[in-house]
Amino acid sequence: MGDAAQCNIKVVCRFRPLNSSEVARGDKYIPKFKGNDCVQIAGKPYYFDLVFQSDTTQVQFYEAVAQKIVKDVLEGYNGTIFAYGQTSSGKTHTMEGNLHNPDMMGIIPRIVHDIFNHIHSMDENLELHIKVSYFEIYLDKIRDLLDVSKRNLSVHEDKNRVPFVKGCTERFVCSPQEVMDAIDEGKNNRHVAVTNMNEHSSRSHSIFLINIKQENTQTEQKMTGKLYLVDLAGCEKVGKTGAEGTVLDEAKMINKSLSALGIVISALAEGSAYVPYRDSKMTRILQDSLGGNCRTTMVICCSPSSFNDAETKTTLQFGQRAK
Ligand code: ADP
Ligand code: MG
Repeated sequence: MGDAAQCNIKVVCRFRPLNSSEVARGDKYIPKFKGNDCVQIAGKPYYFDLVFQSDTTQVQFYEAVAQKIVKDVLEGYNGTIFAYGQTSSGKTHTMEGNLHNPDMMGIIPRIVHDIFNHIHSMDENLELHIKVSYFEIYLDKIRDLLDVSKRNLSVHEDKNRVPFVKGCTERFVCSPQEVMDAIDEGKNNRHVAVTNMNEHSSRSHSIFLINIKQENTQTEQKMTGKLYLVDLAGCEKVGKTGAEGTVLDEAKMINKSLSALGIVISALAEGSAYVPYRDSKMTRILQDSLGGNCRTTMVICCSPSSFNDAETKTTLQFGQRAK
């Protein structure tokens, strides 16, 4: 299985274009791009493995960032791709995009199509079993998006000490269409449970898991790989005044889980002996897809508008620390 022990962490950055209301307000376009790995804000440079300018298409982004991970997962590696950024910075556009429009599809539907296309080039003795799960973490509770009755699932460890979300729906899928149906179903379930979907999605982490098992029917050899695709809660600061009750609880919980994630990623990137996975539910769940036998990519999503420059700097700093 190759150099499995070597953990491979990449941090890339993507800027969305100015939107029409930002243009109408007269906002300035603030990033200055230097080469393909550096962006400057107000003269200060921030470096990443790759930086993507606002005109990057969905297919260009997929080919540069995610396509290789599909190959690795089919070879038995685990992987995780995160989208990090303030609300409206392009996280969902990057992860999902438009599921049903070939040009506008984000990473998840493209990955799904690539996995199923791979079947055609496989050894005829290989069987592929693919299952998906879809859940969200909101106020530190895990909710199954494929079964609304499961509203507070917990993290357990299997006999090999691999953490998993106990009782979470695992749906076997046989075609890209079945995966898109599962995602649509999950998104609908998410809508039904909440009054304001925009606010809700900016305050919860949504996690899509693709689990692939390959079995050689002649030799009975088995290989599994799994890929977590995570659309994180918005990283914006909640206003210092006026936030109380649930809003304040949400903000504290989000800050805590995002900073726990940042600390885990930087510990892994530095090769630290101790990685504090247990400090948050999300890092516990992802544990065996972040360290060790893994491929991890953090996508730092940014707004280019002068209106958001403070958040953008904080977001870029988070990405730097993760590197
Ligand atoms: P987030 O999930 O971070 O809150 P979204 O992905 O929903 O943000 O993006 C906010 C809006 O900006 C959406 O209307 C989306 O289609 C648009 N958008 C985001 N990124 C891009 C991009 N790279 N190119 C064009 N439009 C984008
Ligand atoms: Mg979103």
